[in-house]
Amino acid sequence: MGHILIVAELNDQGAIREASYELVSVARKLAEETGREARGLVIGSGVADVAAEFASKGAGETLFADDAALANYNSDGFNQAIRAAVEATGADLILISNTPSGWDVAPRLAAGLDAAYVSDCFKIDGAGDGLTFYRRIFNGKLDAELSTEGITVATVQPGATEPFEGTSEGGTTALDLSLDGVRSKFIETKQAEATGIDLTKAEIIVSGGRGVGDPEKFPEIIQPLADALGGAMGASRPVVDAGWLDHPYQVGSSGQVVTPKLYLACGISGAIQHLVGMKGSNFIMAINKDPDAPIFEVADVGVVADLFDIVPALTEAVKAAKG
Ligand SMILES: Cc1cc2nc3c(=O)[nH]c(=O)nc-3n(C[C@H](O)[C@H](O)[C@H](O)COP(=O)(O)OP(=O)(O)OC[C@H]3O[C@@H](n4cnc5c(N)ncnc54)[C@H](O)[C@@H]3O)c2cc1C
Repeated sequence: MGHILIVAELNDQGAIREASYELVSVARKLAEETGREARGLVIGSGVADVAAEFASKGAGETLFADDAALANYNSDGFNQAIRAAVEATGADLILISNTPSGWDVAPRLAAGLDAAYVSDCFKIDGAGDGLTFYRRIFNGKLDAELSTEGITVATVQPGATEPFEGTSEGGTTALDLSLDGVRSKFIETKQAEATGIDLTKAEIIVSGGRGVGDPEKFPEIIQPLADALGGAMGASRPVVDAGWLDHPYQVGSSGQVVTPKLYLACGISGAIQHLVGMKGSNFIMAINKDPDAPIFEVADVGVVADLFDIVPALTEAVKAAKG
């Protein structure tokens, strides 16, 4: 039986991202189910202390790849570091977060190892024979179940699992690494232009989805309700992908994770990637024409109706109630 390698990801401040502790939860469950041992891996420059933190907060025995050339993410260097850890540990399951750097390195790693590759899993099950990987396909309308043979590289969707919160025993080991042929070099990080929108701090969010249907309708229908309630406007990803609103408005796994007191979803189907960004809201109200829309599964109040009938009426009612 091989090992599970948990590849940690660091943020710009050099701290371990929450998504890495979600990988720890997945790995610990699988370790229990399959008898494998889990090992952590931290990659960076001057990361011995961060590796020790990862080891003591759930990952257990942790390797670290420490090199000035790894101070910032680059695919050649990180690929080589993970490969070295796989060779050192005999890992047959490599868990990586499904983040931009994860999307980049995981398929390269799988190709180099001649391993199976499963991306964007929301669950991995080890209770039966072998491992079963679950991922959503066709915009969340179907779940695919996959099994693999041999070494497997899997990326796990951030937010799909609770992060591990607890302690663990385990030391750290520096990987013997000699990087070769690192062809890309980090130049600089540029902060995206500030928009002044920070949904993570909003207590009330009124979000519109593809069901709003027209960019003009956001300032006409959605924003007025947000304003009447003293809240902020949000959106699902297709709205942002279509260029109707900027990325800071996006709620979900590749946008903002929000926890307002009230989240109002208008014309949003409730795909898992949207749900992971808002399901922690205190009270969720959903307006959707489709009574089978998955958003109703997480909604405290669901209104099966045309949003163009309900939202303006709601705005007027709120204004009237506030005098
Ligand atoms: C890697 C990855 C990351 C992703 N990240 C995100 C993310 O961060 N955030 C995100 O939101 N999505 C994300 N997605 C996309 C996600 O899978 C869904 O495609 C998306 O959330 C669907 O957006 P939607 O609900 O607005 O659109 P749809 O799924 O098209 O739903 C529109 C809904 O509007 C309803 N509707 C239509 N007209 C009306 C009307 N007049 N009145 C009332 N209801 C109406 C319909 O019944 C339908 O339920 C991601 C996908 C991937 C693969």
